[in-house]
Amino acid sequence: MALTDNLTGERATFVTHLECSLTGERYEADRLQGLSQAGRPLLVRYDLEALGKALSRDALGARPTDLWRWRELLPVRRTDSIVSLGEIETPLIPIPNSGGPNVLVKDEGRLPTGSFKARGLVMAVAMAKELGVTKIAMPTNGNAGAALAAYATRAEIETVVLCPDDTPEINVREIAAQGARVYRVNGLIDECGAIVGKGAAEGLWFDFSTLKEPYRIEGKKTMGLELAAQLGWRLPKAIFYPTGGGTGLIGMWKAFDELEQLGWIGSERPKMFAVQASGCAPIVRAFDAGEEHAERWENAHTVAAGIRVPKAVGDFLILRAVRESGGRAIAVEEAELVRATAESAVQDGMLLCPEGGATLAAWRNAVAQGWVEADDEVVLFNCATGLKYPLPDQSAALDKHDLPDLASL
Ligand SMILES: *Cc1c(COP(=O)(O)O)cnc(C)c1O
Repeated sequence: MALTDNLTGERATFVTHLECSLTGERYEADRLQGLSQAGRPLLVRYDLEALGKALSRDALGARPTDLWRWRELLPVRRTDSIVSLGEIETPLIPIPNSGGPNVLVKDEGRLPTGSFKARGLVMAVAMAKELGVTKIAMPTNGNAGAALAAYATRAEIETVVLCPDDTPEINVREIAAQGARVYRVNGLIDECGAIVGKGAAEGLWFDFSTLKEPYRIEGKKTMGLELAAQLGWRLPKAIFYPTGGGTGLIGMWKAFDELEQLGWIGSERPKMFAVQASGCAPIVRAFDAGEEHAERWENAHTVAAGIRVPKAVGDFLILRAVRESGGRAIAVEEAELVRATAESAVQDGMLLCPEGGATLAAWRNAVAQGWVEADDEVVLFNCATGLKYPLPDQSAALDKHDLPDLASL
């Protein structure tokens, strides 16, 4: 059965309107929208009361577990707008040796194109198709570009992808292989974003930068919905999220709120930990300073490319969610995240991406600081497969003509 068989034809959505995340100003849904007048992200709002009458938690529980089980809480109106590549529910994997007895990794690397960017982009591309977009441009550190290329190509939408010139080679190549025109730019992701913005202002394409269109966040929201369902309609004590643009953290926070309004979960929330690398930690700096917005981080560097984001338009939304939850923003040293990545692989057989490794390092620090208990149930987000990143060569050569004592291998 195809994942989207659940969805047929045109249907009423429960979307009521879009809302500026800063001012609360209302915008019409079903029209192409970018940022609000105030230059901030737009959030999709639903008639949750009507939704609650149309769908029960039990009915939802009986559906196949893929992303489309949440369709009433998603914005897509026409089924044929959806180009699915198999957006499965991702598993929660314990890592008792490198982590703790109740540390679970939500392994998003199992999704199409090997990262959770698929959740956001399957949604954003469906909406772009629905609203008649024919050309899209996007700045990316790699994974978002790959997901965009895959879904947009399949939806017959043209794509231009700009990435920093030191983006991992595999990402640049996979983006091109899936049909996008990809350019390396001698700058960071926000500088790529400025070029995308310039072309969008000239009417050349639609701007798909993180949070600059309203629907990626709805796709990423499904991480929070899914987590609640997987844990039997409760949430963990804490969530450690590798934070770049923050879409997933903001999306999960929104998901929890919607689930509570539906009466499907209670008012308890996990402590949200926004994890960054010490070489690029604008959110951590703003958190520590008690600021509501985050200044650009100069000379950003880290091997964890997905969280190398010097400036995020949703900064205030990330900071608000973290503070409301009683969590924190945490920076981890490069050596700590590299060590955590290696230990999870060798001790638990779980190959994290470096951004995922950063969440394990942050969890260790949080335990040491007393921000969480060592045996608290926590969820770490591993947002891409570790296989997309360069791995250290730890092999040795063997000469088939001059074998050593095989017992020594
Ligand atoms: C994009 C990305 C992140 C950051 O996600 P945001 O929701 O934009 O903060 C983290 N890890 C990986 C592997 C990514 O590709």
